[in-house]
This record gives sequence, structure tokens and C-alpha cells, in this order.
Amino acid sequence: MLEYNDHLAVALLGGKDSLTLLNILVKLEKRFPLTRMSAISVDEGIKNYRDEALELAQTACARLGVRHVVVSYEELFGITTDEIAAMKLGQTPCSYCGVFRRKAINKAASMIGATKIATAHNLDDEVQTVLLNLLHGDPLRIVRSGPVLKDPRGKFLPRVKPLFDTPEKEIVLYAYLTGLQFQSVECPHGHEALRNDIRTFLNQMEIKHPGTKFTLLRSAERLRAQMGADVQLLDLHECVKCGDPTPHELCEACVMLEAITA
Ligand code: SF4
Ligand code: ZN
Repeated sequence: MLEYNDHLAVALLGGKDSLTLLNILVKLEKRFPLTRMSAISVDEGIKNYRDEALELAQTACARLGVRHVVVSYEELFGITTDEIAAMKLGQTPCSYCGVFRRKAINKAASMIGATKIATAHNLDDEVQTVLLNLLHGDPLRIVRSGPVLKDPRGKFLPRVKPLFDTPEKEIVLYAYLTGLQFQSVECPHGHEALRNDIRTFLNQMEIKHPGTKFTLLRSAERLRAQMGADVQLLDLHECVKCGDPTPHELCEACVMLEAITA
């Protein structure tokens, strides 16, 4: 997942997960003199929400001595998540926001010459996504995703999730015990409804049947181990608009931007 000479770009959103990840990686980094680390925050343009998170991210980076880069949807895409939400489009604001965030982090990481991106997805996020993929009718996405994403052709920066098998509860405990200041306010646009239902379901299952989340994670890992080689790599080429790798003519973000501005 991590190599001694990586320049790691940590996606830092200001919540407990990303601040915990940054804290732990900074401790590890001290043992590896050739490792470099930067943090990337994204300003999605969400009033009374992201501002506080950005401040917390900035304070944490200053305290830990980590270079902090902030990119905004406004400057990259010419639109904010608040504006997208106000347009009341067919999909939820999260559908756009999630795709734009991935693109923004990729752009910033390439800009600063990072060799790898680390995100703070935890066990709960991972198993929610496994079920979400099944319910969206896209089981092969489970095989193509995972805690380490590397393209053997080098078409995109590798992405790693060091906290992928750490339960959310343990991250909360770590954050409280180490006195991390993190954002606790919820996003005013709410989260994707289906993911919320899956979260509730999995939490109930975990109480009734302890170990459910780990079992689901291991099932996904088995699928990857068994089927990984059989699931063809997507045939990637350059998006005709922005040049990012995509299996289609336009990347997902450009399709969305076209739909918004149409
Ligand atoms: Fe964006 Fe949705 Fe997350 Fe809010 S909850 S920051 S709209 S992805
Ligand atoms: Zn594009």
C-alpha cells in the first residue's frame, strides 16, 4: 500500500476519518526519511459547512508540519455544490459532489507531483459500498475496486485506503483519545438516501450478528482474489474534453458538467 519513497497526497476533508489518517501517517512518515507527504482539501462550496472543516484541516496541517493544498469546485468547475443543489436536478447533490471531489483530488495530486493518493475510507464505508454496488446492479465494480487501486498501465495515480479495515467506532475512539479537533456538523445536503439505509441496516446487523461487517469485507476480498484476473481492465482512453482517463468518450465529470450547463 505504501512505499518508502512515496510522495503521498492525503485527502483531508476535516472530519474524524481524514484527520485520524493524517495523524497516523505523519507518525509513520517520521520513520521513513524519503517519504514526503502533502494534504489536499476540497472546497465544494457548501456554506456554513465546508468553511469550518477547511479551518480545522489547515490548523491540523500547521500543527503537524504538512503542506496543505486547497482546491475549489468554483475554480475548477465554475460551480459550487450549493448551486447544484439549488438546481434540483434529477440526481442528488451527492452524485455530482462525489464525482467532482474525486476529480479535484486527482488534479491537485498530479499538480503537486504526488505518487499516490491516500483516502480515509473506513470499514463501514467499504462494506456500505459493497452492498451499494450490488443494489445498483454493478457487482463487477466490487472486483474492480478495493483498498489498493493501481493501474498497471499507469493511466491514473494509485489510490490507497489505509483505514479500510478499521471500524468507524475505533476511529471515533482514536480521535477522542488523541484530542483531535474534527468537524461534527452534518452536510446540509444530507447523504445519499440508499447509503443511509444500508448504513442503518449494517449497524443493526452488527449488533445482532457481531462480525457482519468484517465478513462482508472478507467476502469482497475473496471475490477480488478469485475473479480479479478474469474481470477485464476497462479500456481507458482520454476524455475528449479534459484528457482524463475514461472508458467512454467523455469522463463522468464532463458528462455531468455538460448536463448542468445545458
Ligand atoms: Fe457532497 Fe453529499 Fe458529502 Fe455533502 S454529503 S459533501 S453534498 S457528497
Ligand atoms: Zn473529462
